[in-house]
Amino acid sequence: MSLKKYAEKRHFKQTPEPAPSTPEKARRTPTKPSVLQFCVQRHHASHLHYDFRLEVDGALKSWAVPKGPTLDPGEKRLAMMVEDHPIEYGSFEGVIPKGNYGAGSVMLWDRGTYELVGEASAEEQLVRGDFKFRLHGEKIRGDFALVRTKRGKGNEWLLLKKKDAAAQPGWDPEDQARSVASGRTQEEIAQGFPAADPPEPEPNRALA
Ligand code: MN
Repeated sequence: MSLKKYAEKRHFKQTPEPAPSTPEKARRTPTKPSVLQFCVQRHHASHLHYDFRLEVDGALKSWAVPKGPTLDPGEKRLAMMVEDHPIEYGSFEGVIPKGNYGAGSVMLWDRGTYELVGEASAEEQLVRGDFKFRLHGEKIRGDFALVRTKRGKGNEWLLLKKKDAAAQPGWDPEDQARSVASGRTQEEIAQGFPAADPPEPEPNRALA
């Protein structure tokens, strides 16, 4: 995994997006090697799309999904593979200023962990163009696959929901309008509204 392309496209004095940390830092010491993160960002750039990112080998493998991920197993969602992003990008939400690559608002639409499905390593699954995984997100869950198509320049994939208990025919990501990080809508993020107040803590009965 290389973050060279990611860094080349961006000016970190002008965008709030995270700069890649050193390779040593990015490659986190795997105390819990089975816990891998994923995130989905709703990105209102020149074209509205969702960015689907899975942690592989210390970076986030990334696909731009124009119509977004869905729990509907009858849908095939086009997913264009884009440059790897740093792990820190998984908590990014905000506004990329005009004139910068990807200018526009970014919502942290979903996040969680994932597991690989099958015996092959993540690298092997990416090379063969058939990546099978199980998501544990706040909005999307269950088994999915990313399958590389024969069209395009090798960067064209399809994101598919498998039929399982989490599958929901007709499910639409556009019905899920708020950030999992801040509770804000895309418009509120674009306008720089502060994050919603956290919920009131439960009263402490021991002190009552
Ligand atoms: Mn994007």
